[in-house]
Amino acid sequence: MTSILNADLHCHSVVSDGTLTPEALAARAKGNGVELWALTDHDEIGGVARARAAAHAEGMAFLSGVEISVTFIGQTVHIVGLGFDDTDAALVQGLQQTRGGRDQRAQEMAAGLAQVGIHGAYQGALRYVGNPQLISRTHFARFLVETGVCKDTNEVFRKYLTEGKPGYVPHRWATLKDAVQWITQAGGMAIIAHPARYKFTPNEEFALFTEFKGLGGRGVEVVTGSHSAAEYLVYAETAQEFGLAASRGSDFHSPLESHTELGTLPYLSGALTPVWELLQQRIQYPPPGF
Ligand code: AMP
Ligand code: MN
Ligand code: MN
Ligand code: MN
Repeated sequence: MTSILNADLHCHSVVSDGTLTPEALAARAKGNGVELWALTDHDEIGGVARARAAAHAEGMAFLSGVEISVTFIGQTVHIVGLGFDDTDAALVQGLQQTRGGRDQRAQEMAAGLAQVGIHGAYQGALRYVGNPQLISRTHFARFLVETGVCKDTNEVFRKYLTEGKPGYVPHRWATLKDAVQWITQAGGMAIIAHPARYKFTPNEEFALFTEFKGLGGRGVEVVTGSHSAAEYLVYAETAQEFGLAASRGSDFHSPLESHTELGTLPYLSGALTPVWELLQQRIQYPPPGF
C-alpha cells in the first residue's frame, strides 16, 4: 500500500539557488499533478508569500517551507521546515543571521579559485544570484559551466567546490538545536533532508537522528530526488526505527540541471506516516473562488 498523494515538499526558486520564480514553480508543479506543494529555499523564507499566492491561484494546497543549513559534527546537514508561521520573528531573525556569512565565504571561494587560475568568479557568480543575501556554491557552479571551465555543475562540485578542492571554504552554519527550535517554535515541523547525502559513519548518523529527535524534530525525507530506490528503503526503516514521519520532495532547482522533475517521484510506502498527516492543521488551502 502507498500514501497516494502527489505532495512535493522540497524545491528551490530564484530566492535561493533555483532558476525559476516561485510563480513559475507553482505552475510547473500544478502541470505535473502536484496536489500539495511547498517551496523550501535555502536559509530564506522571502519567497513563501509569493509561492502561497501562486499555489492558491493554481488551486493547489500549500505548506510554508524552508531548508536550513546546519553544521553537525563538522558536516553540513540540511533541515527542512514545513508548516511554520512565516511571519514568526525569531525564525525570520535566525535565518537572517544564518545567511550573514555567505558573502564573505563567497569572496574567499573566489580567492581560492583565483589561485588555480580562475579569475573573476565572485563577480561572475553574482550574475546568477537572484537574492544578494544568498550567494551559494550553485551560483559559482553555473558561472564555471557557462564560461566553459567544466561541462556541468556536477563536474564543478567534484573538481572545485567540495572539501579539499580549491574553491571550497569551510563554513559554520546554524546549530541543529537552533534550526529545530526556530521551526518548531514557529508552529512548524522539522525534517532531516536527504539523509543519504551525508558522509557520516553509522555512529554519527545515529547521533544525528537521536539528537534531532530529542530536540523535537519529527520527520525525515525518505523519497527525495537525492536518494536512490535502495535508499528509499533504508530510510523508510530509519523513519520507523526513530518514530519519525516521512516526507517526499524532488529538491528541484532548475529545468536544465535537475534530474528529478517536480511531482514525479514514487509515492511513499503506506507503512509510513506521511508528514502531511501530522501537518493537517497547517496546510493552507485555496480560498473559495480560486
Ligand atoms: P551552499 O549552500 O552554498 O553550500 O550550496 C549548496 C548547494 O549546492 C546545494 O543546495 C545544492 O543545490 C548544490 N550542490 C551540492 N552538491 C552538488 C553537486 N554535487 N552537484 C550539483 N549541485 C550540488
Ligand atoms: Mn541548492
Ligand atoms: Mn539540501
Ligand atoms: Mn534542497
